[in-house]
Amino acid sequence: MRIDLHAHSSVSDGTEPPEVVVAGARAARLDVLALTDHDSTAGWPAAEAAAAAAGITFVPGAELSCRHAGVSLHLLAYWFDPAEPALAAELARLRADRLGRTRAIVDRLAADGWPVTWPAVLARAGGAASVGRPHVADALVDAGAVADRDEAFARLLHSGSPYYVAQRALDPLRAVELVRDAGGVTVFAHPRAARRGRVVGDDVVAALAAAGLAGLEADHPDHTPADVAHLRGLAGDLGLLVTGSSDYHGAGQRAALGARRTEPEAFAALRAAAAAAARR
Ligand code: AMP
Ligand code: FE
Ligand code: FE
Ligand code: ZN
Repeated sequence: MRIDLHAHSSVSDGTEPPEVVVAGARAARLDVLALTDHDSTAGWPAAEAAAAAAGITFVPGAELSCRHAGVSLHLLAYWFDPAEPALAAELARLRADRLGRTRAIVDRLAADGWPVTWPAVLARAGGAASVGRPHVADALVDAGAVADRDEAFARLLHSGSPYYVAQRALDPLRAVELVRDAGGVTVFAHPRAARRGRVVGDDVVAALAAAGLAGLEADHPDHTPADVAHLRGLAGDLGLLVTGSSDYHGAGQRAALGARRTEPEAFAALRAAAAAAARR
């Protein structure tokens, strides 16, 4: 069983439509694929239909924007009811805020002479439900200002940049509860991906575990072997499951689908936890 539990489509900052991501999962000989677009479930129907046709098990998911004590972090949520009102309203607020916040970043860049405009970024986002910095990066690439998304983040879009504007984000403890109340489970995405900015300490992971977090995404392209080892130990200490995923973004980032994977036992336990949450 080859299982990848974290992938993005053009519904957020991936470069391929959901059905193309699923076709890629099939080509990568995956048995299970989760679609986890940022703050949106809009890709679920197309991905689910494509997965059914391809004989792949589809896991409906999302990656929720959270912040704790000024540090941004991402929680993966799986198998929740997308129509549950409290969670759906929070996701809608997050997506709406992304528009204003991304536009503010563009305004700061343009004011400083960088060749980027809001219409160009919106065109690059191409109707994505969740707009974000990667779309600004793509517009900067189009304008010839940077070579690729990586360079755009390293030079202009990282969280310490003068052009950076923070986005609305959920308290992660509340996010764990919202997802559980919607019948789903949460996994802490890339908890030690320090190249993306500051990360939270193990004390925060412990608090999330106490609140009902189900797992830690230990195997991730942005983690060093030492990060992976540390997270596996922490998961053991806290009674959390361990997952592995590619965090695929199409042409937008390096990792291929299936480059990191989740063990079948962990996947089965995660699915059982979601089934228990759905029965509450
Ligand atoms: P945003 O959602 O607007 O805050 O942008 C965050 C997204 O940008 C992440 O989900 C990644 O896809 C991407 N990203 C974050 N850091 C980097 C980086 N250092 N290099 C390339 N892409 C990044
Ligand atoms: Fe992303
Ligand atoms: Fe993430
Ligand atoms: Zn992601």
